Amino acid sequence: TARNPGESEFHQAVDEVFESLGPVVARYPELLDSAIVERICEPERQIIFRVPWTDDQGTVHINRGFRVEFNSALGPYKGGLRFHPSVYLGIVKFLGFEQIFKNALTGMPIGGGKGGSDFDPSGRSDAEIMRFCQSFMTELYRHIGEYTDVPAGDIGVGGREIGYLFGQYKRITNRYESGVLTGKGLSWGGSLVRTEATGYGAVMFAEEMLKTKGLDFEGRDVVVSGSGNVAIYAIERAQSLGARALTASDSSGYVVDTEGIDLELLKQIKEVERGRMSDYAERRGASATYVSDGSVWDVPASVALPCATQNELNGRQAKTLLENGVVAVAEGANMPCTTDAVHMFQESDVLFAPGKAANAGGVATSALEMQQNASRDSWGFDYTQDRLQEIMRGIHESCAATADEFGMPGNYVAGANISGFIKVARAMVAQGII
Ligand code: NDP
Repeated sequence: TARNPGESEFHQAVDEVFESLGPVVARYPELLDSAIVERICEPERQIIFRVPWTDDQGTVHINRGFRVEFNSALGPYKGGLRFHPSVYLGIVKFLGFEQIFKNALTGMPIGGGKGGSDFDPSGRSDAEIMRFCQSFMTELYRHIGEYTDVPAGDIGVGGREIGYLFGQYKRITNRYESGVLTGKGLSWGGSLVRTEATGYGAVMFAEEMLKTKGLDFEGRDVVVSGSGNVAIYAIERAQSLGARALTASDSSGYVVDTEGIDLELLKQIKEVERGRMSDYAERRGASATYVSDGSVWDVPASVALPCATQNELNGRQAKTLLENGVVAVAEGANMPCTTDAVHMFQESDVLFAPGKAANAGGVATSALEMQQNASRDSWGFDYTQDRLQEIMRGIHESCAATADEFGMPGNYVAGANISGFIKVARAMVAQGII
């Protein structure tokens, strides 16, 4: 903490990984000899830059841009860009740190990085978003590339923003370098299933966990937070397995829909109109109720999928979920559960999947997009979805087997942290003190 003052989310993410590493260090003392633990916590490179842009009225705004290139032991830095007013170095570092282990778990050749800006896209016109993205890329372009660092989307950065960023990169470099960004449109280098991948992947991981207890999604009530990319496709997948997704939320409130979320309406409002959950409640009719205070975690269900943002599910809310009989929690978002909430789920024998395992389907499919770009190919939906499913099963298997091996059966947090750490640490040892 003295070395990285004020970066509370980064400290939380590091503590959570280190809590799991005692038995690893005891078994492989050689990993400590080359100061792996100290090196893995220090990003290889941190870039902070000014992003000036002009709004539609001609007023000049200055935002701050970030790219933290955390660890390249396994491949080029890979991780999303987040545009949200809460973004500061501590958030980017927590996300970048998590990304190292998540990417290792996918088994794909990608290192860890993350970036973004404290820019607030809400209420901005398309033209304003474009000018912001162009200004952001005018500095970022010199730091990224197919073999160096490959950004993607995250909160506030979807297909539209990736398009503007890619256009500006191409214009500055005069290179059609498809592999420089992922999450691209389907006609210009994007991959089928990338849009769905994080939400689908989180449900696939939850399915695997449920299977270990002879359970499945059929007929279950599921509570989901968020109404963005991850939440929408987690709901879609859960409903396709016969579950009823009761809720979706945004930062203003949440909707409970007793008939299950109407996906077509949700997609129309969020993906097309860029509207709010209150609009959904107004248009859905009698089955939907809009709640502007309280929390989505008050709604009884047996599976919880937090898919909005960090620290959105605390100990008190975990207690409510437990009292209401939750059996599985899978983090679609990054670090949505506070440390005490995670401990409560684990102590109560709830199946709990940490984000670095459960939401790795997004980055894994980004790596599949990179493969398609490198071979100038594009794969079909079913083939790509099967690859995603295979990867999510592999991650589940590796977390479960590692937890067993280290004497903590069923502890997916320890399994994910240890399995990801060992892979990265071994590569770092092999590559010398750099
Ligand atoms: P989006 O921007 O598409 O959606 C974010 C959603 O979360 C919005 O509905 C937003 O509401 C809501 N939200 C944000 N902050 C809060 C809050 N404090 N309380 C309630 N709701 C809130 O982002 P994504 O769906 O892409 O990302 C969601 C999470 O998943 C993030 O943690 C991200 O890091 C993680 N993730 C995303 C991946 C991806 O492929 N997209 C991959 C792996 C992880 P509002 O509109 O009001 O802000």
